Amino acid sequence: MGFLAGKRFLIVGVASDRSIAWGIARSMHREGAELAFTYQNDKLKGRVEKLAAQLGSEICLPCDVGQDDQIGAVFELLRERWGALDGIVHSVAYAPREALEGRYFESIDRKGFHLAMDVSVYSFTALAKAGYPLMKGRDAALLTLTYLGAERTIPNYNVMGIAKAALEASVRYLAADLGPDGIRVNAISAGPIRTLAASGIAHFREMLSRAEKAAPLRRNVTIEEVGDVAAFLCSDLARGITGEVIYVDEGYHIVGLTFDVES
Ligand code: NAD
Repeated sequence: MGFLAGKRFLIVGVASDRSIAWGIARSMHREGAELAFTYQNDKLKGRVEKLAAQLGSEICLPCDVGQDDQIGAVFELLRERWGALDGIVHSVAYAPREALEGRYFESIDRKGFHLAMDVSVYSFTALAKAGYPLMKGRDAALLTLTYLGAERTIPNYNVMGIAKAALEASVRYLAADLGPDGIRVNAISAGPIRTLAASGIAHFREMLSRAEKAAPLRRNVTIEEVGDVAAFLCSDLARGITGEVIYVDEGYHIVGLTFDVES
C-alpha cells in the first residue's frame, strides 16, 4: 500500500505530459492517492482529460485561477463528490512573454506586473482560501512550485523572480495561518525543466545546459524527481515540515562559482 493511500488531492497546473504537475500526479497516484484535475481553458481540456483518465481520475474541471467563480465551482463540486480534501498542488505561473526577456525594469509595465502577480502568486492563496473548509482539521497539505530566481537574479526571469519571492513569502504566511488547523504548506524549488511555461523564458535552453554542467549531480532535474518529493511532502511522512522551500535541483543552488567545470 502506498504512503498516500486513502488520500484525495486536487492537482492544478497540468497542461501536457511534460508539466511538472503531471510528474507530481503520477507519483501521487503511484502512492495510492485519488486525484482530481483542473485545466486552464477549453484549448487544454481534451489533453488534460486524457491524462487524468490515465490515472483513473473521474474529476477534471475548468479553472482559470484568475476567476474566483471558477475556483469556487471547483471546490463546490469537490464538496459534493468527496466531502473533504487532503491537499492541493498548485503548479501554475504566467507572465507576458515580453516580460521574460531583456532587462527587468525595461521589460515590465504595470499591467504585466499585476497579471504575473495575480496568476502566479495570489492564485495559491485563492485556492487555499476556497479549499480551506474541505481541508480543515485533516492533516492536509498545500504545495506550490518555485524557482531559484526568487532569491538570486537570473537573466530574463525578471518579473517571475519577483512573483516567486512573493509566492515563497505566501508559503510562510499560509503555513503560520493554517498550521493550527493541521494544514501544512510547502514549496518545491525545482531546477529548470523543459515545459510549455519554460519555453516562454528567453534563452531557456542555455539555462538548462549551464545548470546541468554546474549542478553537483551533473544533470538536469526531471518531473519524476520533483514528483517523488512532492508526493513525500504531501504525505504524513512529512508531517513535521511546513513553511519550507525544498530544493529539487540536483544541488545547483549550493554552488557559488562554476569556473572549474567550464574550463
Ligand atoms: P507548464 O506550462 O506545464 O505548467 C504551467 C501551468 O500553468 C499550465 O498548466 C497552465 O495551464 C497553467 N496556467 C497558466 N495560467 C493559468 C491560469 N490563468 N489559470 C489556470 N492555470 C494557468 O509548465 P511547468 O514548468 O510545469 O510550470 C509549473 C510550475 O512550476 C510553475 O509555477 C513554474 O513557474 C514552476 N517551475 C517551473 C520550472 C521549469 O523550469 N519548468 C522550474 C521551477 C519552477
